[in-house]
Amino acid sequence: MEGCSAHLIDGRALAERVRADVANEVVQLKKKRITPTLTVIIVGDDPASHIYVRNKAIACEKAGINSQVLRLPANVSQDDLLHHIQQLNLDNKVNGVLVQLPLPKHLDEQSVIAAISPEKDVDGFHVINAGHLMVGTPQFKPCTPYGIMRILKHEKTPIWGQEAVVVGASNIVGKPIALMLLAAGATITICNSKTKDLKAHTKRADILVTAVGKPGMITGDMIKPGAVVIDVGINRLDDGRLVGDVRFDEAIKIARAITPVPGGVGPMTIAMLLVNTIEATRLQNNLV
Ligand code: NAP
Repeated sequence: MEGCSAHLIDGRALAERVRADVANEVVQLKKKRITPTLTVIIVGDDPASHIYVRNKAIACEKAGINSQVLRLPANVSQDDLLHHIQQLNLDNKVNGVLVQLPLPKHLDEQSVIAAISPEKDVDGFHVINAGHLMVGTPQFKPCTPYGIMRILKHEKTPIWGQEAVVVGASNIVGKPIALMLLAAGATITICNSKTKDLKAHTKRADILVTAVGKPGMITGDMIKPGAVVIDVGINRLDDGRLVGDVRFDEAIKIARAITPVPGGVGPMTIAMLLVNTIEATRLQNNLV
């Protein structure tokens, strides 16, 4: 494989297909007089969060999903924020509730997530949904790992019996993707910042998933020839470019397939949020 060029996984094209499928499902739901509705809560003025929320709203609109954004001031109290979430939990017209993270420091993220009704938790971060994933009865899967599994399926990547190494162990990417790969039959290794010899692990990976947030930390010599490399990292360099955790120029000569940054995993994350919103709508209308 070395010296060849890896297949580039086109996350944008796949996301377009997923979004088109969602749009078709929305048409069917609207025939039943059901309009899927997602409410996103954003707290404060973080510019990156506002861009993410706007992109989510645009994606919803394009798919025919009704999206509402609840903008709260940076100094909102924990009680007020929880009150807003309770109102949305009780509102039958709202199918999905998402709180854009990160939150200002004075707010307790875990209890905010815990306040969202698990049936409306389209981010899949609630402990109930995390627990379902853990025991193999998933309801809402976190969007980024869900998108990665969709990519691997689309690429017909063998998973059963394969070595999968996940670098990064966050609740939103690393841990859930490891559980999903495990459920699909892979032998998994999860690495974190304390891992002693990272290369010894990554070098064994038939499927390598990196979700760290350190530009170029995975060099070509850390990749097994012929591996499928899924680069979740999004890092902005001083010159403004976006890059992943993987040294793309080196990896492309060694891997069998690789997700670029941008244009790989990122677009799939939003697409799977739409999928989860449809799943929530179906669930709440007894259509599953
Ligand atoms: P996070 O919560 O900061 O977690 C980072 C993980 O990386 C931690 O588990 C940390 O280990 C581990 N780590 C740090 N340094 C390491 C090292 N030298 N070797 C091995 N592991 C190391 O990050 P996150 O929220 O999962 O996000 C990770 C990256 O993915 C970021 O760049 C983020 O922007 C990106 N992201 C992209 C998408 C997308 O849609 N494409 C979605 C979400 C996130 P410890 O547990 O020991 O601290």
